[in-house]
Amino acid sequence: MLFGRNKKNPIRIVDKSVVDWKYATCGYCSTGCSIEVGVNAAGEPVASRGVADADVNRGKLCIKGIFEHELFRQTPGRGTTPLLRKERFEPFREASWDAALDHTAAEIQRIQGQYGRDSFAIVSTGQIMTEEFYTLGKLARGVVGTNNYDGNTTLCMSSAVSGYKRSFGSDGPPGCYEDFEHTECLLAFGSNLPEQHPIIYWRLKEALETRKFPVIVVDPRVTMFAQMADMHLPVNPGTDLVLLNALAHVILKENLHKPDYIAAHTEGYEEFKALVEQYDPTTAAGICGIDEDRIRHVARVYAKAGAAMTIWTMGINQSTHGSDGVVAINNLNLITGNIGKPGGSSLSITGQCNAMGTREWSSCSGLPGYRALEKEKDREEIAKFWGIDPEFFPRKRGLFMTDILPAIETGQVKGLWLIATNPMTSMPNTARIRKTLEKLEFLVVQDAYRDVESNEYSHVYLPAAVWAEKEGCFTNTERRVNLIRNVCAPHGDSKPDLWIFNAVAQRFPQGRSMRFPENAEGVFSEMKQLSKGRMLDISGMTYDKIEKARGLQWPCPDGADKGSPRLYTDGAFRHPGGKAKLIPLPFIDNNERPDEEYPFWLNTGRVVEHFHTRTRTGKVGNANKFSPTPYMEMNPDAGARLGIRHGEYARLTSRRGETVVMVQLTQRVAPNAVFIPFHFHDCVNRVTLGLLDPHSRQPAYKQCAVRVERAADQMEAARQNVAARSY
Ligand code: SF4
Repeated sequence: MLFGRNKKNPIRIVDKSVVDWKYATCGYCSTGCSIEVGVNAAGEPVASRGVADADVNRGKLCIKGIFEHELFRQTPGRGTTPLLRKERFEPFREASWDAALDHTAAEIQRIQGQYGRDSFAIVSTGQIMTEEFYTLGKLARGVVGTNNYDGNTTLCMSSAVSGYKRSFGSDGPPGCYEDFEHTECLLAFGSNLPEQHPIIYWRLKEALETRKFPVIVVDPRVTMFAQMADMHLPVNPGTDLVLLNALAHVILKENLHKPDYIAAHTEGYEEFKALVEQYDPTTAAGICGIDEDRIRHVARVYAKAGAAMTIWTMGINQSTHGSDGVVAINNLNLITGNIGKPGGSSLSITGQCNAMGTREWSSCSGLPGYRALEKEKDREEIAKFWGIDPEFFPRKRGLFMTDILPAIETGQVKGLWLIATNPMTSMPNTARIRKTLEKLEFLVVQDAYRDVESNEYSHVYLPAAVWAEKEGCFTNTERRVNLIRNVCAPHGDSKPDLWIFNAVAQRFPQGRSMRFPENAEGVFSEMKQLSKGRMLDISGMTYDKIEKARGLQWPCPDGADKGSPRLYTDGAFRHPGGKAKLIPLPFIDNNERPDEEYPFWLNTGRVVEHFHTRTRTGKVGNANKFSPTPYMEMNPDAGARLGIRHGEYARLTSRRGETVVMVQLTQRVAPNAVFIPFHFHDCVNRVTLGLLDPHSRQPAYKQCAVRVERAADQMEAARQNVAARSY
């Protein structure tokens, strides 16, 4: 008689009857994992798996990628048909595509005719395909002709873009994931890699398993990343720049810098040296909260490493001196000769799957292929290629997203087109954004989901296809262009964004006279031509070659077998003269700070299960099951002082508004700080301030002052907390 094993239920792997696996790139974060979607005999997507021979993820996926095929099921809230209404808040009526697009084009033309071309603004995303970004840029810059055109990447990566441009003369992350395999020291600023970019974190862990090197994490919060670090520097919120200047101070004082590299490849050394002279560790410690010996130690470890690299995410970018923080990281790597060499790099870890694609090709901040509106040669080149008058282009970029919304308040902008972005949840100060959207004469929302919160304020809703319901490319954090094959047809009567942009272009006289390729590969061919000989050269890529290689990094010129893992390997930078700039950066403490009335720092960030405003992950089974409601991390000492117990609800008040949230008592945060994930609607952004960085116009989401008290009516507070789930 058999006992034990055969009495237990064996683990069964459900047979999903996959008949074909289709290649794609994950549509959530910028890690850029290669993924295959399994389809059954009926052509329905039923499974997802990582691609084993893809260099980025080597067969792995995080929880979001593993369930990505569920996006294609009839998840609640998907748009199926265009919707129209005369007045906002009236019920929508279903419309044909022709009716919705005719009305949209007519309203754009009416507003521009009445108030001027720039009175109609366009705000897009980091989520659609690069070919779609390029086409939208052609439409916005070459047809509609508004200069108030930007992407929501201003909320996440604008400081990195600005910092790269100021230091190196161009955008473009110089490093790659392979640098983990060569570096002798990793310094991470404001990046909770295990939760934000789990597969990049796994790449780091894999490198650490074969070769030990110090990992130093700078973060006010004891994040998961901080918990595994060799050194955690719990810097005071908003003072990273002081710490970076102090590290440079020690390196120069102790002659640990690389004078030959500095002389050959940089300019501005003397001014930089004079500035960091003021940031001695003793003075800096009093501001940034890291003791002076620790500052000296970290400076020595970093400068003495054969190769050292710095990565960062929103802890640096989302600050009133985010751009300066990025430049300070670049300064550190320039004085130690850590740019363009294996294991030596500045590497921004990007947020959205195709934030890089919009930076490269959308024309938001200029013209396609890292061209600038400010340069006559660039304007003429693109105008000739598109077949329009170069005088149609403005001579400098217009408003950033974070300035477009205030321009609605002042009446400068009257109409707005939102594409796969959701400012009602993502922007700071929700109450202000609500009033702003109500002021618009015309709002069109183009999104895969009709229940996206911003759509409550629209006059037209255009249902877009999602992710692999269409075809095209994304570029990931390390400049790797990867492909998304079309896995299945768009849901209902939704259309690929490319189709929508082309259809709008045909409703303008100038659009009808221009060439708008119908399919993504035709658009990619135009981009290849425009990239030839440029920094982001993709002329050596084809869709088949990209798929075969599981992604190719740019530059990849015509004839090249593969792309280049690193930039600036020859020390030639993109500023005129070819040198990088060492820029002196005085610290200006201009943010809201805790005081007697509002005694807590409020910090915001992500959880691993959710992506951005939960438009997708709020609907996908396991992601939402594991993280269904908002919560606030609070130190147990602070909880005891205020009489708030673990699991109770607290009211959080700032100068902007108030919100209610469940409390999780944890030592992850300091006694004078609280932390709330940013994903949930009507939650943390009711209280955030979001002062803007002067260079990048990126909001400082991560630092503001709040008051916390136990919610008097716990039942009502629980109801409000659950309401923030929204779905
Ligand atoms: Fe997708 Fe990012 Fe997860 Fe990779 S790490 S599976 S790209 S969400």
